[in-house]
Amino acid sequence: MSSPGSGLERIETIAVIGAGTMGHGIAHVAALAGFKVLLNDVDRESLARGVSAIERNLAKGIQLAKLTEDDRDRTLQHIHGTTNLDECAQADLIIEAAPEKLDLKKEVLRQLESASDRPFIFASNTSSLSITEIGSASKRPGAVIGMHFFNPVHIMRLVEIVVGEKTSAETVNIVKGIGEKMRKEPIVVKDVPGFASSRLGVALGLEAMRMFEQGVASAQDIDTAMELGYNHPMGPLKLTDLVGLDVRLNIAEYLHRELGSEAFRPPEVLRRLVSEGKLGKKTGQGFYDWSKEDARRAQSS
Ligand code: NAD
Repeated sequence: MSSPGSGLERIETIAVIGAGTMGHGIAHVAALAGFKVLLNDVDRESLARGVSAIERNLAKGIQLAKLTEDDRDRTLQHIHGTTNLDECAQADLIIEAAPEKLDLKKEVLRQLESASDRPFIFASNTSSLSITEIGSASKRPGAVIGMHFFNPVHIMRLVEIVVGEKTSAETVNIVKGIGEKMRKEPIVVKDVPGFASSRLGVALGLEAMRMFEQGVASAQDIDTAMELGYNHPMGPLKLTDLVGLDVRLNIAEYLHRELGSEAFRPPEVLRRLVSEGKLGKKTGQGFYDWSKEDARRAQSS
């Protein structure tokens, strides 16, 4: 836990930049934890979709008896949507969940800093970009950090706190405390390609593909080995189908280039399936055939 006097108590308002898949989830858990939330998107329709998704997820929480109607009302009252980025510079902590483009993230940071002298903390939800590089756009790189949430944010318990070369110990401490208040389990990771989660998860997935390619076992049996033998909730090939084979290929290429390890060289089967447009669940075919009833059951097992 973060110690009293760590600076955590000065965080009252959190701005979330980008109301897409990750942004609306982050706004949800922040508001539920009692923070005042400014949810920002450049696109008015995306903002509205983000707020609707929060309403739906809260309603589901009530159905499952995980939340009360009171929790829902309190959470929604705490969220204020805005398309004006400058307004977000009034926040104590800004969590950026805009698209995965380095220049865009740096530009958002620069604009926020020029809109206000307030010494906010800037946390990026990037899944792969360097926090040190994003922080180079800041006048206060000590206050720039990574806060890597997982999808769906209101359910997944991990938050990876990524520490850039210039990130201060105070920033790490405050952001860890915020993660705990959001009922997440924070882990602290150096700013290296793939952080901790993607590097390990992708290595496992690629090895599973190589085993599949070499005919060691069927996709289902490779997944069952991890599900029943290692208690993983989902096998690595099924997970690849859900994430998207194209997304996995991009990350593998990036990690192979950056880390120079053969463990990340994309297997032929991955390249072939992507080139055939078999991208996983979203296209109906990946390592599994998602158009069939069997595979639908496999998804929920
Ligand atoms: P998304 O495309 O669902 O949402 C991005 C949102 O940002 C869109 O609504 C878009 O309109 C908005 N946007 C674009 N430019 C903006 C700007 N200048 N200012 C404000 N809003 C802007 O993307 P996502 O999947 O939520 O990913 C967001 C970030 O989170 C990325 O960095 C991604 O790598 C990271 N991430 C994604 C996942 C995942 O599973 N989707 C998991 C972990 C981390």
